[in-house]
Amino acid sequence: MTLYIASLNSGSNGNCYYVGNEEEAVLIDAGLSCRETERRMRRLNLPLDRVKAIFVSHEHDDHIRGLEVLSHRYNLPVYITAKTLEQCRFAPAAGLVRSFQAGNPITIGALTITAFAKMHDASDPYSFTVASPSVRIGVFTDLGIVCDNLIRHFSQCHAAFLEANYDEQLLENGRYPWPLKNRIRGGQGHLSNRQAFELFAEYRPAFMSHLLLAHLSQDNNRPELVQGLFEQQAQGTDVIIASRNNESEIYAVEGSYRGTAGPAWTPQGIRKPKGDADPPIPAVTMRNRRKLAAANARSAVTQITLFE
Ligand SMILES: [Zn+2]
Ligand SMILES: [Zn+2]
Repeated sequence: MTLYIASLNSGSNGNCYYVGNEEEAVLIDAGLSCRETERRMRRLNLPLDRVKAIFVSHEHDDHIRGLEVLSHRYNLPVYITAKTLEQCRFAPAAGLVRSFQAGNPITIGALTITAFAKMHDASDPYSFTVASPSVRIGVFTDLGIVCDNLIRHFSQCHAAFLEANYDEQLLENGRYPWPLKNRIRGGQGHLSNRQAFELFAEYRPAFMSHLLLAHLSQDNNRPELVQGLFEQQAQGTDVIIASRNNESEIYAVEGSYRGTAGPAWTPQGIRKPKGDADPPIPAVTMRNRRKLAAANARSAVTQITLFE
């Protein structure tokens, strides 16, 4: 069954991702104001009453700004963990709060939503996949590292929103204070273009028809850099930059696309061990340090002899 996807906005100024079929849809995060969410859905001709629930990835403001008003106005259940809810200034209407657990799929009509834990500097952060019986979509932003969970889920997706937050050089040379630079790149912050690109190049499944690069930094990235980098390896997958300022188009993901899988892709989405091509690096012990010193001394003696 075809799934329709759109980014309503993507970036540190607000995140909201739409995934649905003809009958029902969910929003992953609600980081735009309610009014702006309504405006963008209307421009896309997506009826808000098709949305049946909001799933919250974590408590950062760019993911929950419109949550309270949107859920109240449309009587929408909010799937959020207790730990995340504790950190939110969000007064849910009685009966609208639902919890979820990693690895326990939740069914909304013909959609199945599955959460998995991720590394990010929030209290209890998750990523989600949304699936119909034949198509799976991943929403993967705000990630400190490419962990095994991410590889496993990314490898199963027909389309994915994937964070490409910063260019490593632009961040290094940019105006951000040192502690903030280290927060972003320190394993609990965001994925760089290179990290996202390596995931895509290595683990892209042959059936991935769309890749939407998401959560680009205003200061430490450029959309054209990201587009250029990923297009080198696209191999037929549509590469789209999700904007910080506007909604994307709606993309129909049918699940029938067949391209070329990345070289490390496995049907189970398992991280492949590094090949034998890289010889093991010998440990530097006192014994081989002495051997190395003796060998250096011998070659020095040889050289002196030669030059005499
Ligand atoms: Zn964010
Ligand atoms: Zn965040």
